[in-house]
Amino acid sequence: KFSLEFEDVSFSYHHGEKAILEGLSFLVNEGEFVSIIGPSGSGKSTIFKLITGLEDHSGGKIAINGEVYGNRLGHVGYMPQQDLLMPWRTVLENAALPLEIQGATKTDARERVVKLLDQFGLKGVENKYPSDLSGGMKQRISFLRTVLSGSNVLLLDEPFSALDAITRLAMQEWLLDQWEKWKLSILFITHDVDEALFLSDRIFIFTEQPVRKFVEVTVPLGRP
Ligand code: ADP
Ligand code: ADP
Repeated sequence: KFSLEFEDVSFSYHHGEKAILEGLSFLVNEGEFVSIIGPSGSGKSTIFKLITGLEDHSGGKIAINGEVYGNRLGHVGYMPQQDLLMPWRTVLENAALPLEIQGATKTDARERVVKLLDQFGLKGVENKYPSDLSGGMKQRISFLRTVLSGSNVLLLDEPFSALDAITRLAMQEWLLDQWEKWKLSILFITHDVDEALFLSDRIFIFTEQPVRKFVEVTVPLGRP
């Protein structure tokens, strides 16, 4: 049973500098969909870097499944704001790789990806390279790749920021389907309060005044 716990976590990018995070505590359980909102620069993306182990916290405790140590990156599907698509691979090769790694045959993986590409307005792009695509297209492909990773924990950093409203809705609904189907635990960073209300069970809000801290809100009505 998955859990992610921050207990009194602090962090600064450079030793001795003002802390980006200070005394941050929260708990996310299996199957929860939690959004994180807050002003630019408040430290939202930094939280993901600490969860994945790309940065080391300077104080407090970060535990996954109650364990403080271990390869945290192995547990999670991480979609940073900067896409991690491999420029030397086509769209299809990029997006199908996680399925192949999980043991799907090349044919099955590719068939499934082409179907999803069609579904999300990316018909015909499978043989293009990332450098041939717009920001919104790359974002959709990175998102697909992350969800198809088979991780039951997803860290999504503004995954839909470059999408038009209709494509965004299609992807939000697909994400909710996948979330239900695989009992995913999702941490979702967004600037969009409506999006957070629509998608999540709980919302963590970074406030800056009077002191920077997390305020937690339980979404009262839940999903429609
Ligand atoms: P958010 O995701 O809420 O916009 P970030 O977590 O990206 O915020 O950044 C929090 C703060 O840390 C910002 O002030 C940002 O300038 C700073 N920061 C982010 N990355 C680095 C880095 N690699 N080195 C130094 N400072 C950084
Ligand atoms: P559809 O997109 O049509 O709903 P499915 O979700 O039924 O397709 O596809 C099943 C495939 O999804 C499995 O082969 C598996 O590799 C992959 N998959 C994606 N996410 C996960 C997950 N979190 N846990 C296990 N399998 C997953």
